[in-house]
Amino acid sequence: MNHKLVVVAAPSGAGKTTIVQHLLTKFSTLAFSVSATTRVCRAHETDGKDYYFISTEVFRSRIEANEFLEWEEVYEDQFYGTLYSEIHRLWAEGKNVIFDIDVKGALNIKKAFPTEAITIFIKPPSKDILLQRLRNRKTEDQKSLDKRINRASLELTYESQFDAVVVNDTLQQALLDAESVVTDFLK
Ligand code: 5GP
Repeated sequence: MNHKLVVVAAPSGAGKTTIVQHLLTKFSTLAFSVSATTRVCRAHETDGKDYYFISTEVFRSRIEANEFLEWEEVYEDQFYGTLYSEIHRLWAEGKNVIFDIDVKGALNIKKAFPTEAITIFIKPPSKDILLQRLRNRKTEDQKSLDKRINRASLELTYESQFDAVVVNDTLQQALLDAESVVTDFLK
C-alpha cells in the first residue's frame, strides 16, 4: 500500500483540531498521529489518545536516541514531537496518517516525505478574529495565552509554504473544503 500523510497545521485558535476530528470521521483510512509532549495534560485529555505526555527529561533522551521524525519547542519549555514509532504503528495497521501539528513541524514532515505528504494550512478569516477566539477559549492562564498570541502571529506568516489553504470563516464551509482537499489527495 502507498501510505499517505495528511499534515494539518494552523495558528493556535484557527480551528485545526475540529477540522482534523471531522476528517477522521469522514475518512476511515485515516488515523491520528499521537504526538509526544512535555506540556501538562488538560482535564478533557487522555494520555496515549490526545498525546503521549512525558517529562522533559524523557523527551530529551528520545531526541538523543533519534526517535523523533520531527520535534519543536513550540512554546518556551514545552516540547512537542512526532515519534517514528507512531507513524510505523499506524502504517502497520494499513492506515494513512493525519497530523495536527505546528507549522514548522508540518513543513519538516513534507521535507522528509515530499511525495507522500500534503500540507494543509487552516487560516482564520483575520488576525483579529483569531486573537478573539484565543481569548475566548479559557483553557489557558494569562501567561500561556500571551505565549499563544505571539506564536499565532508568527505562524500566520507561513501560509504560502503550504500545499493547500482552507479558510475557517464559517466552520461548515471549512469542513467541506478540507474534505474536498483530502478526497483529491487520497484518490
Ligand atoms: P496544544 O498545546 O494546543 O495541544 O498544541 C500546541 C501546538 O503544538 C499546536 O499547534 C499543535 O498542533 C502543535 N503540536 C502538537 N503535536 C505536535 C508535534 O508532534 N510536532 C509539532 N511540531 N507540533 C505539534
